[in-house]
Amino acid sequence: MTTIFWPLQSNIIRRCSTNNTFGMVRKFADGTPKPHQGWDFAARVQTPVYAIADGRVAFVRDKGDYGLQLCLEFEFEEATLYAFYAHLFKVFVREDDAVKGNDQIAASGESGNAKGMPANDQHLHFEIRTKAQAGLGLANRLSPLRVFGECPLHKEIAG
Ligand SMILES: [Zn+2]
Repeated sequence: MTTIFWPLQSNIIRRCSTNNTFGMVRKFADGTPKPHQGWDFAARVQTPVYAIADGRVAFVRDKGDYGLQLCLEFEFEEATLYAFYAHLFKVFVREDDAVKGNDQIAASGESGNAKGMPANDQHLHFEIRTKAQAGLGLANRLSPLRVFGECPLHKEIAG
């Protein structure tokens, strides 16, 4: 059985808002539902970020809205899944490295489209994917609830 760790020392959804959880939780300007692909954990720039499980680094990349990104392949309930971390400041591992659950692998940041956010909006964007290259919208993503079993929406969970 895979042991799952939280990605931060202190885990709570940004602004304690359902808008920062998984699913069709946001709205486009015209009011139609808009997807958010994972959970935003509140995290000031340069907060230590940890591997949620033993695994292998699928990729590290710095590109587009997600900014500096890290994708970690791991096994969960007999499936291969990917933990995807975005808007990072720094990554301490390289593609194909083996990592242990709870190893510090990165520091959170504000790269990509998270640039210049006020302190209380700075965050770690975190997804659970079924494919490393997940595509648009909610494609090839799962709710992180499936892996963590609870969502720290109103109360912080210690990692
Ligand atoms: Zn996000």
